[in-house]
Amino acid sequence: MSSTEKSIFERIIAREIPADIVHETDTIIAFRDIAPAAPVHILVVPKTPRYRDVAELAAGDPALLADVVATAHLLANELSDGHFRLVFNTGANAGQTVFHVHAHVLAGGLTEGSLAH
Ligand code: 5GP
Repeated sequence: MSSTEKSIFERIIAREIPADIVHETDTIIAFRDIAPAAPVHILVVPKTPRYRDVAELAAGDPALLADVVATAHLLANELSDGHFRLVFNTGANAGQTVFHVHAHVLAGGLTEGSLAH
């Protein structure tokens, strides 16, 4: 993908493609994963396309990373029992397919098998 091409998440943020949005602020959007790996599977996505992965986000804007974690906690409480697993696939060899930082929030009936997402 060229750097000028929008990622799938930028297109969701711009409402160019639909998503089941569960939470939105000026800086963060959260929506259900199209291929859920747990009964509750939400993607929490900073709106800025500046950071490709969580390592870049942690280095560049730790307050925004803290907001991502707080949003995960909020949504786990709202949509499930407050218990959740937070996954940041970082790098293609770790399973990352969308290079716009995002957290997977997995909740509800988690088993060992869903650890790998
Ligand atoms: P990654 O593999 O980069 O950690 O996570 C990307 C996630 O985005 C995958 O779990 C995938 O199912 C999800 N995904 C990809 N395309 C779409 C889409 O168009 N809509 C939604 N809601 N999720 C998507």
